[in-house]
Amino acid sequence: MPVAALGPRHLLRRLREIMAEQTSAQTRLDKLVTIIATNMVAEVCSIYLRRAGKALELFATEGLNRDAVHNTRMKEGEGLVGLVAETAEPVNLSDAPSDPRFSYRPETGEDPYKSFLGVPIVRGGQVFGVLTVQNRAAVQYAEEEVEALQTVAMVLAEVVAQGGLFKISELDEPELRIDRPRRFQGEGLSDGVAIGHVVLHEPRVKVERMIADNPQEELTRLEEAIGSLRDSVDEMLDSSELDLTGEGREVIETYRLFAHDQGWRQRMRDAIRTGLTAEAAVERIQDEMRVRVQRLDDPVLRERLHDLDDLARRLLRHLTGEAQVQDLPLNAIVIARGMGPAELLDYRRDRLVGLVLEEAATTSHVAIVARSMGLPLIGSVEGITDAARLADGIVVDGETGELHLRPQPEIVAAFEAKRSLGEQIRARFAAIKDLPAVTKDGVPIQLMMNAGLALDMPHLDQSGADGIGLFRTELQFMIGETMPRLLDQVTFYREILDSAGEKPVVFRTLDLGGDKVLPYARWEREENPALGWRAIRIALDRPALLRYQVRAMLMAAAGRTLRILLPMVSDVDEFNRARALVDRETERARLLGLERPRQILVGAMLEVPSLAFMLPQLMRSADFVSIGSNDLLSFAFAVDRTNPRVAKRYDPLNPASLYLIRLIVRSAAEAHGELSLCGEMAGKPLDAMALLGLGLRTLSMHPANIGPIKLMIRSMDLREVSPFVEKLCGRTDHSLRTRLAAFAAERGIALK
Ligand code: PEP
Ligand code: MG
Repeated sequence: MPVAALGPRHLLRRLREIMAEQTSAQTRLDKLVTIIATNMVAEVCSIYLRRAGKALELFATEGLNRDAVHNTRMKEGEGLVGLVAETAEPVNLSDAPSDPRFSYRPETGEDPYKSFLGVPIVRGGQVFGVLTVQNRAAVQYAEEEVEALQTVAMVLAEVVAQGGLFKISELDEPELRIDRPRRFQGEGLSDGVAIGHVVLHEPRVKVERMIADNPQEELTRLEEAIGSLRDSVDEMLDSSELDLTGEGREVIETYRLFAHDQGWRQRMRDAIRTGLTAEAAVERIQDEMRVRVQRLDDPVLRERLHDLDDLARRLLRHLTGEAQVQDLPLNAIVIARGMGPAELLDYRRDRLVGLVLEEAATTSHVAIVARSMGLPLIGSVEGITDAARLADGIVVDGETGELHLRPQPEIVAAFEAKRSLGEQIRARFAAIKDLPAVTKDGVPIQLMMNAGLALDMPHLDQSGADGIGLFRTELQFMIGETMPRLLDQVTFYREILDSAGEKPVVFRTLDLGGDKVLPYARWEREENPALGWRAIRIALDRPALLRYQVRAMLMAAAGRTLRILLPMVSDVDEFNRARALVDRETERARLLGLERPRQILVGAMLEVPSLAFMLPQLMRSADFVSIGSNDLLSFAFAVDRTNPRVAKRYDPLNPASLYLIRLIVRSAAEAHGELSLCGEMAGKPLDAMALLGLGLRTLSMHPANIGPIKLMIRSMDLREVSPFVEKLCGRTDHSLRTRLAAFAAERGIALK
């Protein structure tokens, strides 16, 4: 059995010396395989690196035929080398040629070698290549040898990634360069171009030292760090301040289990024994885990992986003494897998210019907050957190969803041009800010804005909106650590009304449930939360919540008009019961002799299709109705709007949507009711053109969209648009977008 000659630590030291040499890439690789072979007493040592198209090419060898270098290539998954790359696991065989996966390559002259050990060269969950050793004798390699080779491969990967050992560009292999420019396509969730530098929301802790001088010392450091990690997790769990319930508590409980896991500890100890520092050992074990879990394609395990990643990072911070809170550089673009709205608000606004998330859809709350902040945001950018490194240059286009990591100067220049064009366009909108939103044929349109936080309020004047058509009150509840008290709510609503001045504000009562949960409230897990216990359903089952909110609104709106909008109403009785609660609160205020609003208007959100058929009856008790097209269409098309796989499957400009909205518009008109629309459609020029064609006259949207929508309105003639849209309702297309766009282009309707 081959036995490592001088031990892994000696090998790593030699590796370090080679890294420091100023020779060509090929020479360094050649030296490397020779040293590994000698050290591991292997007759063969080879390095295969991944080329474009995922083929693995023999880049260096000791023992095999030198002519095969750069000539032997294994296709993806081919042979034992392919198997190692595919599974990202070591392959250890005593009789490789008899294995069914063995692929015989005569040019390499590997006939005499029976035993085979291959380990993946992995970094950041990506397999860069494969490192192998072979011997004539038909024996299995010992566990320590597998460990040792994995450690060497890890150091090799780090060096390949950093370009420290050899310049991959010399080998003409751009695919392998981790620092190469990359383009990603995500989903634009909040408009605007941002140019800046990467800040990782949960940054990898930087491991400076990989090779240990004294393994015993490293073992002690690891033990101490695990000890303090366990203490901190226990403390977190026991903390009375942290009133965690449900999932939050489960997560911390899982941390505790993981933190106390003996297998994890043992694997890290073993890795240290191969010559790594404690930090490098934590990283190596986590990297291996990540690769394994990613390959399983199991969503539950992937979720667990976030926990484990987080835990490994905490452990690394204990080891490195690195602080938890980051300083933001200027022009920071934060990258994360996912983020909550409160976390986003934690960042310093004067330094943050953009946000990129792997997991976020247009209606996620973080997206809503990003839009409120006017912060460009791209969601659904798969793989960005692994690819991006701290301080990398980055360009983000929140309109198209395009992202450039480590961009070339020309790309930056192009986006700078686009950004300044955007500013010019904004200046154009600013110029029409005070002009009325009237169509060419003289029909006035009311343009309102959506809001939810105090920081939205300055946009009311800046955009020239006629008022606030939808104020999502739940956002204020969601960003806090505790439930706002009555007086806090009064102060908040009063501030909003004060800053709106004469312009109307429509307060929507708490729209909780579904994907909107309060971080501090106990929440039962539901099979289908979108169809579950949410919004007005909660309000009617727990009337105190709604009554307190209404009480606060009544106090805040004393002497003025109060507009209350009830979310997710499914039938008229539900609306009437909620309205009765409002009336009871008003009566209470009267009995207490409190100053009351001058006028109280109560409206319903039309988000559930069933209500579309009840408008004549609803309008008898509702003062107004606002179509929430986001939810309405998601229910109409049976699509989970938070699931990126299906969220975009149906176009809101589908004939069925137009038909449904036309039905609502007609029904509301017959009942002489006030109708508006406040979903995302209202803010998209082409969609809004269709909505106006269908008869809507009030739209509420994100303030940034007011300018473009007004420009569109001022260039359209409803006498032409209405009959055209009317005709489209009868078509069978999947999307009417192209037809509407062609029509707009022909008539010179401004869509930008
Ligand atoms: C809607 O559903 O269209 C809506 C405006 O409400 P939200 O997006 O807050 O669910
Ligand atoms: Mg809704």
